[in-house]
Amino acid sequence: MTDAEPQRSRILVVDDDPSIVDLLEAFLQHEYHVSVATHGEQAIDLCRRQLPDLVLLDVMMPGLDGYEVCRRLKSDPATRDVPIIFVTARDEVDEEIRGLEAGAVDFLSKPVHRAIVLARVRTHIVLRQQAAKLRDMAMTDILTGVANRRCVEERLDSEWRRCRRNQVPIAVIMIDIDHFKLYNDAYGHQAGDNCLQHIAAALKKCLRRPGDLLGRYGGEEFLCLLPETTLDRAVERADELGRAVMALNIVHAHAADERVVTISRGVSATVPTGETELADLLEVADAMLYDAKRGGRNRTTACPLGLNAGQDAPPKN
Ligand code: GH3
Ligand code: MG
Ligand code: MG
Repeated sequence: MTDAEPQRSRILVVDDDPSIVDLLEAFLQHEYHVSVATHGEQAIDLCRRQLPDLVLLDVMMPGLDGYEVCRRLKSDPATRDVPIIFVTARDEVDEEIRGLEAGAVDFLSKPVHRAIVLARVRTHIVLRQQAAKLRDMAMTDILTGVANRRCVEERLDSEWRRCRRNQVPIAVIMIDIDHFKLYNDAYGHQAGDNCLQHIAAALKKCLRRPGDLLGRYGGEEFLCLLPETTLDRAVERADELGRAVMALNIVHAHAADERVVTISRGVSATVPTGETELADLLEVADAMLYDAKRGGRNRTTACPLGLNAGQDAPPKN
């Protein structure tokens, strides 16, 4: 953690009336980062370019009205979760119902009052922060702090589909700690937990690209997902992971050859097609991991799924 001030929440104010915009901006700018749109299209465009944490949306506007803007934001997965508070001149039940049906979380009526605006905005910002925290917790492994199995499975699924659409390779590395039962037996469960934490941190440090993911897949198993990566490149990365764990130098007197904790790696890659499935890719990687164990542990074993594991770019002259 740093001592830097936490980033201010971003609020988008949308109203065609400049005096309302000025007023809301004056109320909010001391606590929040405020941006402004004066019509519906501009509001949608701004939301897509930089996702706000909350939208204050005027109902009556020329062109796209507030309901339509709300519906469009709610129908786009990228902007769907941003809470929207309607700001309306009319204090009518029908209007309020229509807004809630369109997906708004709350209402403010004009003329707007500073204390009410600040209280409502604060409530929804806090709710959003809590929801984000819960989402993070639901996706994080509590012991090691890396992605948990649920997160890994969701990302595998979406990356598999993305790589199939774009006809690019996807690679996975299955990782299992060698003789970990013996490690626990010799040094105790707490030492085993510490070892898992160190290994997770060392593996995660090896990730390079924003799309790469390391997750804890089982008790002492990790999975590394490498989108847009060929089999050859994934094998290099798997060897690198193996070296990173050895470099930790965690003493394991009962390990077979090396006297330190090591990992075995099973790798597979493919360019997904209509005929192949994600489960097949994981199965091949798992079978390769098993081969690595049988072959003596602390090694990488690899096999493509199907005939096409992606071509490496020709070496530069
Ligand atoms: P191999 O080299 O064949 O993988 O042998 P292994 O002993 O690592 O494999 P095995 O599957 O027999 O044992 C896995 C061990 O991992 C047993 C289990 O107690 C330990 N383990 C799994 N999850 C945790 C955990 O969260 N903390 C600790 N300390 N140990 C764990
Ligand atoms: Mg093991
Ligand atoms: Mg295991």
